[in-house]
Amino acid sequence: MGVVIGCLVGVWSVSLRAGGFGPVPETTAKVARAAFPEGCLAIRLRDALGPVFTDTDFADLFPARGKPGLSPAMLTMVLLLQYSEDLSDRQTAQAVAARIDWKYALGLELTDTGFDHSVLSEFRDRLVEHGAGQRILDRVLAAAREQRLLKARGRARTDATHVLAAIREVNRLELVGETLRAALNELAQVAPDWLAEHADPEWFDRYGRPVENYRLPKAEAERQAWATQVGADGARLWQLVSGPDAPPGLVTLPQVQLLRRVWIQEYQITGTPDGGQIVVMRDPKDRPPAALRVVSPYDPDARTGMKRQTVWDGYKLHLTETCDPGAPRLITHVQTTHTTLTDFETTDNVHTGLAERDFLPAQHLVDAGYVTARHLVTCREKYQVELVGPVMPDTARQAGAAEGYALADFQIDWHSKKVTCPQGTRSVRWSSENNQHGHPIIKVRFAAQDCRSCPAREKCTRATSHGRTLKLLPQPEHEALTHARIEQKTPA
Ligand code: SF4
Repeated sequence: MGVVIGCLVGVWSVSLRAGGFGPVPETTAKVARAAFPEGCLAIRLRDALGPVFTDTDFADLFPARGKPGLSPAMLTMVLLLQYSEDLSDRQTAQAVAARIDWKYALGLELTDTGFDHSVLSEFRDRLVEHGAGQRILDRVLAAAREQRLLKARGRARTDATHVLAAIREVNRLELVGETLRAALNELAQVAPDWLAEHADPEWFDRYGRPVENYRLPKAEAERQAWATQVGADGARLWQLVSGPDAPPGLVTLPQVQLLRRVWIQEYQITGTPDGGQIVVMRDPKDRPPAALRVVSPYDPDARTGMKRQTVWDGYKLHLTETCDPGAPRLITHVQTTHTTLTDFETTDNVHTGLAERDFLPAQHLVDAGYVTARHLVTCREKYQVELVGPVMPDTARQAGAAEGYALADFQIDWHSKKVTCPQGTRSVRWSSENNQHGHPIIKVRFAAQDCRSCPAREKCTRATSHGRTLKLLPQPEHEALTHARIEQKTPA
């Protein structure tokens, strides 16, 4: 019995069926070495990292129904090889069946014929459904760590790039038209008889085809009239689905709910001269902020982003990679956010993500978007990470003037809560408050009579009714910022 089971394990382990990776079969290894005497990426990958994945890591990724599934561990490796060579699914399935180096990486017999290419898209769906992307990254990093390719507490850097949503960029007229069309399509699938009975016959002509700008009227007045018509149609549809006679559940359908959201952001109800009401498009300035605005009914989470000259609909991707001299650069953290979330709002999340998975660096290089005085202190105290990036210079008028008295020219005595100005005068007031973002600051004021009679007043303040005022950050943040500002002016 033991021999039978041993044979079965041997058979399964060298095929793509469940069982994961086995050792590279002898014939496959021999032929691969002869064909690639210098090695190649797939062969090096297998030699350097070993099998990397096991089916135990991905037990939930076997298909729930149907024939015994292919090994998720191997399919994951296939996806990595596919990505590394930018192949289509069809080309990838052919490569598994025909390429000796891939068979070596996957530990397959030369006679293994692989699988149908459709398996890959189904497997990717399961990966997304089970949120397994992070697991793949973590397994690769664990293998890299075992091979000492990933240094503990080394150096890393983070930067962001834009990610386009898989949607067509639309203007406002197309957006409202397509949102209504998407809701009608959803209702046509869920409640076709109800829709046929209640829909305005003109809707089938108006929304039967994709709403595209080139088919819309060109004159502004006609475009406005078209937008108003769509607004009225959408409001009417909402009335119907949310009315007492509508079948239960229609009102909570995703595209129907989205219709309501888009109508709130794009339309408003206004009075007509005859005492009636009409749905009209909002003035662009009267719409909600970009962080809330839907840009397509086909990806409600996408937002419009802007970075310098680049404007896009989609998301922002923050990538953290190791950058230790002499070591490979490995991505250790991936975070996708709304386009409207600023980089410095993401800094804490990046560190939390790295800390949870034990990938925190000792030194973290970032660009100016990720650094504030608060981050310099939090990173050091909470994570023992040195955050290195250009900090904002002092933007006060006095700091820019050739002979102005900037904040750095004042002596602060934190213990006695007094500040001494360059003329030797001591402040008279020290009070704590919060700035507009809710962060604590300290307001320091000098006496009006001291400043009025000061010979250096021109360099310091233009105020006439009161003395010079300073805004200080809490001591640790002030000192971290001052130190960083000095340091970033040094040649090093
Ligand atoms: S204006 Fe006031 S705060 Fe400024 S240097 Fe003169 S005395 Fe000091």
